[in-house]
Amino acid sequence: MGRFEFKQVVVLGAGFAGLLAARAVAPFASDVYVLEKDGDWDLRARKGIPQRYQCHTLLMRGQRILEDFFPGILNELAENGARPLDFSLDTCWFFRGQKMPQVPSSLIGYYATRVLWDRLVRQRLETFKNIHFIRNVSVKGLVSLSSDQEFVSLMTEPCAGRVLPKNSKEVLIIDALGARSQCAQWLSEIGVPAPPVVTQRIQIGYCTQIFQPASGLKVSWKALLAFPAHSTRGAVILPIENGNWLVTLISRGGDLPPKDPESFIEYLNSIDCPELQSALMHAVPMTSTFPYRIPVGLWRRYDQSEVPRNLLSLGDSVCRLNPTFGQGMTVVTQQAKILHELLRAKKSRDGLEALTTDYHQLISKVIRNAWELSSEEEEFQSDVRRSAFSNFFQKGAISLRNEAVATDDSTFVFFLEVCHLMRPFRALLSPLFLLRCTFVLARRLCFGRFARLGERSVDAKIPLRRLSTPRVTKGRAIGD
Ligand SMILES: Cc1cc2nc3c(=O)[nH]c(=O)nc-3n(C[C@H](O)[C@H](O)[C@H](O)COP(=O)(O)OP(=O)(O)OC[C@H]3O[C@@H](n4cnc5c(N)ncnc54)[C@H](O)[C@@H]3O)c2cc1C
Repeated sequence: MGRFEFKQVVVLGAGFAGLLAARAVAPFASDVYVLEKDGDWDLRARKGIPQRYQCHTLLMRGQRILEDFFPGILNELAENGARPLDFSLDTCWFFRGQKMPQVPSSLIGYYATRVLWDRLVRQRLETFKNIHFIRNVSVKGLVSLSSDQEFVSLMTEPCAGRVLPKNSKEVLIIDALGARSQCAQWLSEIGVPAPPVVTQRIQIGYCTQIFQPASGLKVSWKALLAFPAHSTRGAVILPIENGNWLVTLISRGGDLPPKDPESFIEYLNSIDCPELQSALMHAVPMTSTFPYRIPVGLWRRYDQSEVPRNLLSLGDSVCRLNPTFGQGMTVVTQQAKILHELLRAKKSRDGLEALTTDYHQLISKVIRNAWELSSEEEEFQSDVRRSAFSNFFQKGAISLRNEAVATDDSTFVFFLEVCHLMRPFRALLSPLFLLRCTFVLARRLCFGRFARLGERSVDAKIPLRRLSTPRVTKGRAIGD
């Protein structure tokens, strides 16, 4: 087995994962080549990333790692029209029907369109002399460089060989091709067993439209997340650049949100949340509606399989998470950080032996943490637990926690920190936390009542006349 050292890195895909991967490896390589099949990657209507229209939250953990990689980038976000907010104080959040507290927290960050996040990161990378973007190149497969498949090289179209180094054993390849990556299949085509795949039934539908809020509108929040209890329908209003709102319908269980603007409003009106309808009553649509459907979550277990020593995967190509929890990009930043730190440690100590194995083992921990949160939600909403007994206790514990989180400010902030991946998901399962929830509820049962969705104070409906033609034409919207 020869020693593995690389000089060059080829990153496949210039999505969020590809960009972060390039940043993570740049200090350790003479050259980093980022291959991307899309030509015009600034368009919102980018073919390679069809989900770019949809709301994309970068959680607190992700924002902090991004700022470490690119100091000052959050300020740039503000300079580009995003506004800072407290994810607790400034968010009116109805979760499983409960109104969450709006209290000050240390979770201060930004919402922005996905286009802006990508663009700011890419602009920073363009200042790196050793990072080279090569567009209009499609990766088509892998080639084995030895009979034991220890090292692989790439097949691309059109051939990018002229820019890539000749001795490919000295090239580290990073698969950041997104959820539709065919890397696992390409591996099996050259005789390397494909990794086992774990799936999670999600069946989520999104539909997004950008609105301009009515001038002079007064609301007690900057972001609204409306998820009524016992309903497959929800919606969010997120503040994005230039004072606009990104409004996304989110459905579960196959009840897909409609595509046409009229039904979009009808769908909004069908959600049991007066705050939602009042806020949008006089808002003006700025774009068309953009639908997206995601049937399953997918985790390719590279940590449980043999992979070539110069190939690793990052981002959705390893794991596509349930998007409702907004974790995907944050998990990308966590993976990039792991890669960066692993390279630093290995380069200065024992060389790059077992780089890919160690990397895939380490990232499986951050993926598991995010995966478990959405698994729990699916299990709570359906009956996928193994026995009625465990189902009863699992749902009981979650209901207890939900009530406590909605009732007590500090318990809520703790929960929010878990959602923002600042604390491990397991913290919610600890006996101490459950005891705390029990205590909170006992106290509350004696003194107060809960605010719930469905206690309508306003009977608001968004009028259909608001559906006048969008001010901005399809595909060229805010953020472009
Ligand atoms: C509806 C929806 C909502 C979401 N909301 C959130 C959210 O709120 N917060 C969050 O953090 N995450 C969210 N996500 C997840 C987020 O979109 C992904 O986690 C993130 O985009 C992963 O980035 P990636 O670079 O791995 O993949 P992608 O963004 O899919 O990028 C893959 C790149 O590879 C390129 N490519 C593909 N094939 C080839 C090829 N053969 N050759 C060359 N290039 C190729 C593509 O053109 C593209 O540029 C959401 C996802 C969906 C579907």
